[in-house]
Amino acid sequence: MTEPNGGTRRRTVAVVGAGITGLVAAHELRRRGIDVTVFEASDHSGGVIRTTHTDGFLAEHGPNSFVTSAPVDALLAQLDLQGDVVEANPDANRRYLVRQRKLVPFPLTPPAMLGTRLFSLRAKLRVLMEPLVKRRTATGDESVASFVRRRMGPEVLDYAVDPFISGIFAGDPERLSMAHAFPRVQSLEERYGSLSKGLMLQRRDARRAAATARADGRSAALEETAATPAQAAAQAAAQAAVPAAAAAQAAAPSPTRSRLISFIDGMQTLTDALEASLDGAVRLGCPVRLLHREGARWMVDTGQDGAASVQAFDAVVMATPAHALSAMELPGDMRQLSRPIENVEYPPVSTLTLGFRRADVAHPLDGFGMLVPGVERETILGALFSTSLFPDRAPADHVVITCFVGGSRTPELARESTEQVVRRVCHELRDLVGASAAPVFTHHIFWPRAIPQYTVGYQTVKTAADATEAANPGLYLGGNYRNGVSVGDCVASGQQIAGRVERYLTQAV
Ligand SMILES: Cc1cc2nc3c(=O)[nH]c(=O)nc-3n(C[C@H](O)[C@H](O)[C@H](O)COP(=O)(O)OP(=O)(O)OC[C@H]3O[C@@H](n4cnc5c(N)ncnc54)[C@H](O)[C@@H]3O)c2cc1C
Repeated sequence: MTEPNGGTRRRTVAVVGAGITGLVAAHELRRRGIDVTVFEASDHSGGVIRTTHTDGFLAEHGPNSFVTSAPVDALLAQLDLQGDVVEANPDANRRYLVRQRKLVPFPLTPPAMLGTRLFSLRAKLRVLMEPLVKRRTATGDESVASFVRRRMGPEVLDYAVDPFISGIFAGDPERLSMAHAFPRVQSLEERYGSLSKGLMLQRRDARRAAATARADGRSAALEETAATPAQAAAQAAAQAAVPAAAAAQAAAPSPTRSRLISFIDGMQTLTDALEASLDGAVRLGCPVRLLHREGARWMVDTGQDGAASVQAFDAVVMATPAHALSAMELPGDMRQLSRPIENVEYPPVSTLTLGFRRADVAHPLDGFGMLVPGVERETILGALFSTSLFPDRAPADHVVITCFVGGSRTPELARESTEQVVRRVCHELRDLVGASAAPVFTHHIFWPRAIPQYTVGYQTVKTAADATEAANPGLYLGGNYRNGVSVGDCVASGQQIAGRVERYLTQAV
């Protein structure tokens, strides 16, 4: 930026919200030599990523793990965090589903699919017929439930897709959009006419890509691809395959292996390292209340009780949850354009971390955890076997089970008191995993608005975000309501926004 006296002024950017999206955007802007100030409303950075350590038990408030990708690997290297990473136990591939109050392993191979007790013979035959189902001819957004019922029948919806969706979105397949929540699976139908055919061809392409990589002397490890259509649908949900990146991944398998990871001291390691890398630029307890433009600059006001506290910036990155926009004073046209964003639905979720004496739980807990189909009518949406997944989550001879309650399915249960939620959940754990005594450790977090729902018609939200940015040069909207809900999606989105901001600032010189 050229000053009136001919000198150059360093370009400044405000990032609003110090969740993973905002922190990554700020970190990346810093790396590109741009001055950043991060305004965070609460008294801590990290947003929903937070870890508590109590008496040897580790409790995650929000995400417990995430899947790596090229952007995540790059970030871990920049922050020098590789030594702190813990990979999920390989047993984590085993995921249990609940059917008639029994835990049944989810089938991961075609033979296991044929032999499983999870699906009836009729449902298995229906899955085998999937290649014969015609491509959808109707246009317009389709719900996940309609897509899965149409291609694979109602049982796959109830016992494969619905529980995985609860495990990630805490959402309702009847309302989630196939195109926005599962672009990767939808693209299989679009490109190949069938999920089974598409998966087979993708596996073939993946093998060829691996062979080429080996011939070129590059890493030959490839991302695992699903072996059955039911698994593809469920796996896509499990990986929260929301962003366009996932569709691209389906089209061109990556030559690097993605890993399910956390950190020795929990997920907060990542956001703490990001905050530290920003070297004092994160201002906690500073909710942004007002945003407006004066000439080419953006005015950001964090004043309280009518007292203004305004700072000018060359650009602003809004990395708050979608609903936070409604609490801010915004320029008139922006308020109008961003209305669909403010209305994005975030159902409530309770996270309950329970520590038991090992001897008090009969089940071996040998897997990622269990997911509960809605038709089973339990309180628990899903549970992670946290001590089986990662080391050092509990004192010796203890186990941790992290349970999720509520979501779109039963929002009223998420809002219950700690005592009520613990009582309900422990009652179910007695039958499901043989937890015969009360937990010795309990940690309850209530998220009134947990995860954005990419519902049918979500294009309106995306169009509103694009239009808001187009009408307000220098303003950028990020966060998990835009490019995917997983931590990996948010990392990629933060990096991508930083690139866009840098291009804008360069052009504005
Ligand atoms: C219970 C739960 C479990 C999850 N599990 C997983 C998982 O296992 N794996 C996975 O990959 N993903 C998981 N997710 C999803 C993932 O964690 C989130 O999508 C992601 O962390 C969101 O990051 P974000 O930066 O977009 O938003 P947030 O983390 O919500 O951060 C937004 C920040 O903006 C701040 N803010 C709001 N208004 C203002 C204002 N006016 N001024 C300044 N600051 C403001 C907020 O205080 C907050 O700190 C889970 C999410 C939840 C809730």
